[in-house]
Amino acid sequence: MHTIEAVRVAYGSALELGLLRGRTDARATTLYLFVSKTGCRGSCAFCPQPYGGISKISRVEWPRFALEEVARALTQATGLERVCIQCSDEPGIASEAEVIVKRLAPAGLPFSVSAPPITVEEMERLRDAGVEILTVPVDCADKKRFRSVKGRDLEGIMGSLRAALRVFGRGKVGTHLIVGLGESEREAVEMIDAVSRMGVTPSLFAFTPIRGTRMENAASPPIGSYRRVQIARHLIVNAGLKASDFKFGPDGRITGFGCSEEVLERTFDLGHPFMVCGCPGCNRPYFNERASGPFYNYPFKPDPKRVAEETWSY
Ligand code: SF4
Repeated sequence: MHTIEAVRVAYGSALELGLLRGRTDARATTLYLFVSKTGCRGSCAFCPQPYGGISKISRVEWPRFALEEVARALTQATGLERVCIQCSDEPGIASEAEVIVKRLAPAGLPFSVSAPPITVEEMERLRDAGVEILTVPVDCADKKRFRSVKGRDLEGIMGSLRAALRVFGRGKVGTHLIVGLGESEREAVEMIDAVSRMGVTPSLFAFTPIRGTRMENAASPPIGSYRRVQIARHLIVNAGLKASDFKFGPDGRITGFGCSEEVLERTFDLGHPFMVCGCPGCNRPYFNERASGPFYNYPFKPDPKRVAEETWSY
């Protein structure tokens, strides 16, 4: 097996490992790594990778460190619960992730890998190396604009999710959805429903415009819209609701959650539906938000009154 000299580490994770010095008021509970060889061949309209923004994913800087340095620091780290390896879209990228998993395995943490569609054999090798959860990002819930936003077909990604379910099993496959790529709330809910019914865990991001990308001038989603989709995700994943249980306005906006007032109040009280929901231990602090807000995914348990107000704002 080949070796890897260096890997990119998300800024907050590098602080947590003691590889960088700095202040943060929300500590990362997952070590986020990004692996790329020669550069991403994808053409996602929202991502800086194909446009040369190789040190950035979403709002986050990913400085490069020697893999040996990361491995040494990880054995000393106390606040981390998971390692997440995010892969660029390149041939053979799964074997890079496999090398990293094997090198960091002595730390004893569970591994997630987030990758564009890879072969079944590559999935099996990752599973056999010790990866617990494989995530294949759908990102875009707008089926009509999918190809122009993602630069590939939705069916290829759904096929990859089905293959991942056969290799890793239900509950051990995830996907990411980015709210605000032009889809309606109804389309977001229908996508969450479709993947959840397959046995895939959806995790939400908010679209963040990045300079130099095709979507640099598009706006982030309204906070009310994001809250409504978060509630829908919670009710579908945790309470078994279906997309057809929700009510939508003519523009696709959610106007009713298909549950009682009490259940909705309890959702506001719980708080976690408005925080990062994905693999266990993943908190992605400030991936989508500035420290001054707005908090699409709260890095702490939010005030129920505040999220209730945000939910009904437009
Ligand atoms: S949910 Fe979190 S840990 Fe899981 S693949 Fe996504 S970013 Fe990684």
